Amino acid sequence: MGKKNIISLSHTRSLKDRRVMLAVRLILVVIVVLLIGVVGITSLSYNLASMKKNYYRLIDRDYENLNHVNEISSLFFEHQALAFRYIDVIENKEEAAMIEERAKVIEEELIAEEKEFGDSAVGTQYESEYHNVVSDMRTYLSNMEYVFDFNDYGDRETADFYMKTELSASIDTIIHRFMSIKELIDKDVVDARGDLSKEVLKYNRLESFTILLMVLISGIGLIMCIYTALDMVNNDSLTQIYNVEKMQRYMAKRHRRGKLDGYSCICTNIKGLALINQRYTSVAGDITLREYAYQMKKTLKNDERIARIGGDNFLMIVRDENTKAVIDKINSLTFKIDTGVDVQEIKIENRCGVYKISNTDPFDSIMNAAYVALNNAKKNSSENVVWFDRKLLDEAYDRKILITQYKKGIINKEFEAFYQPKTDISTETLEGAEALVRWRKNDTLVPPYMFIPVLESDGSITELDFYMLDRVCQDLRQWIDEGLRVVRVSSNFSKLHLRNPDFAKDVLKVINKYDIPHELIEIELTESSGYENFTALSNFVTEMSSNDIFVAIDDFGTGYSSLSLLRDLSVDVIKIDKSLVDGIGSGKKSDENLLKNVINMIKELNKDIICEGVETVDQARILRSWKCYNVQGYLYDKPLEHDEFEIRLRDPKYNRINK
Ligand code: C2E
Ligand code: CA
Ligand code: CA
Repeated sequence: MGKKNIISLSHTRSLKDRRVMLAVRLILVVIVVLLIGVVGITSLSYNLASMKKNYYRLIDRDYENLNHVNEISSLFFEHQALAFRYIDVIENKEEAAMIEERAKVIEEELIAEEKEFGDSAVGTQYESEYHNVVSDMRTYLSNMEYVFDFNDYGDRETADFYMKTELSASIDTIIHRFMSIKELIDKDVVDARGDLSKEVLKYNRLESFTILLMVLISGIGLIMCIYTALDMVNNDSLTQIYNVEKMQRYMAKRHRRGKLDGYSCICTNIKGLALINQRYTSVAGDITLREYAYQMKKTLKNDERIARIGGDNFLMIVRDENTKAVIDKINSLTFKIDTGVDVQEIKIENRCGVYKISNTDPFDSIMNAAYVALNNAKKNSSENVVWFDRKLLDEAYDRKILITQYKKGIINKEFEAFYQPKTDISTETLEGAEALVRWRKNDTLVPPYMFIPVLESDGSITELDFYMLDRVCQDLRQWIDEGLRVVRVSSNFSKLHLRNPDFAKDVLKVINKYDIPHELIEIELTESSGYENFTALSNFVTEMSSNDIFVAIDDFGTGYSSLSLLRDLSVDVIKIDKSLVDGIGSGKKSDENLLKNVINMIKELNKDIICEGVETVDQARILRSWKCYNVQGYLYDKPLEHDEFEIRLRDPKYNRINK
């Protein structure tokens, strides 16, 4: 796919798992080829065997006929010898009669033998010669009748004369014919053997060719299967670039050899992929991911690598001197898709976390550092590219130290709830708040991006979330008791809780402990990639809503989920991520249209919408013109500590748009 090419949505089928299909097809082709080959070779050998049988039958018949000829000729010679002997003893009537008798017997045997030969000579190349010899012998025998008749007359001279003059020529001819038949039979045998070996050779060649072809095709099939299997193990099925495991192996190898010095680890996240999914179907989302991977891979040098590490997140290992060029490239990627109605240019925007690697870094911390920088870019910065500061890695991101410090922090109650107001911009009044954790550590306030990723990977985040909910309920109870007009407060919960079958019960326990009216609590769950734990999520949401507790889907537009999934969930609120809001108010019509469409679609699902990260009056005005009234952002307030927020509760009016 080139940059200039237009990719048609209608011609793009689902792109996932094509490799599995390919492997299955390859295996089927190999099986079919092997089957055809086996059937072919079996039928070849069967044909060869029956052909050999035929030839051997012909050769056997020839040998049998040769015996017949030998038998006939020896009978003939004996008969002839008797004839000469007869002439010698012709005067001795008694002996002559005995010889004549014997000659008669031989004559009968001769005729019988000659008949048998005649039957099996049919169709051979010596059949006509056989007829000749038979007729010659018949003539000879009838002439011999005449010789034997001399017995009766006793005329030896005449008989002798007759034998010598009349018969010797025909005897010579017969002998000659015997020889010629033998030669023909020999030739027949030689021909048959020659034909047979030619056929055998032909069959052998055909067999070898078939076997070779089978070996070749199944070999190619096998190699392709191995290749596909390796591809499946190492590469992401959609984008055909490294998957996270392969990237980790690759990096670990280079790290062991000290070959990561001079490289940077870039973690990127495509902005608003979910919106592309919503607007042009998930096929367009897939195409975006593939196009991104394809174009970036083309940009990288030989020893640089890119991997898809889940959803719309990518990781690159790039030489330090190329980092800037790669980041520039990431932020100028475009391609066109043909939606069937019109051609749309998609401009891919990213957030990047960059970490300059040093070989002295512990391996685990490298990806983590880039990821933390990315998170920083997502949440806490107006910059799309954040460079991770090595000092932070050395200090705060030593995971072990951090986790030990966290445990102490919980005991010492170092974690505080800050409240960021949510405003109804139709009246510019405070209408809710989000509780955000802050770690007060040695007199500094540590922001969540510095520790939450580590607690997420360690699992401790679940404890911290309940700690925060407890703080929120405690604060609400205090404000209610003081008679303040309180607002609904949302608390963030990690997806990890979905593994806990008692998640909903545990939430209710905390709320009921402080006797907080349920409608004052909202649970924020981050949109996860594809909602892998959809059933657990759906059960939790249902249980919350039957207890009148609100549930919001946080950071909508950063993940990889789709509106159709949200429709099936009874969530009350969709929080649109800051990255989508950033695009409006700066004159970018395409970004504005996109967000407007998404807002309309969510409205159609009958869900409340709140836009996060509203920083400018222009953004607020645009949202108000779309009747999207709920916002949260620095325009109104940053996250406020307990006492500052209490002041807000007492004075809930703002004047930002209408000064
Ligand atoms: P989030 O839930 O998306 O929270 C919104 C973040 O955006 C907050 O960052 C907030 O300070 C920031 N923000 C709000 N309005 C604006 C704006 O107009 N401009 C800019 N630049 N930023 C704005 P914060 O407090 O640093 O929290 C970061 C993330 O940490 C949160 O993102 C949330 O994912 C996580 N987090 C915070 N507290 C908790 C918690 O108690 N439990 C869990 N599981 N996660 C938490
Ligand atoms: Ca949140
Ligand atoms: Ca959010």
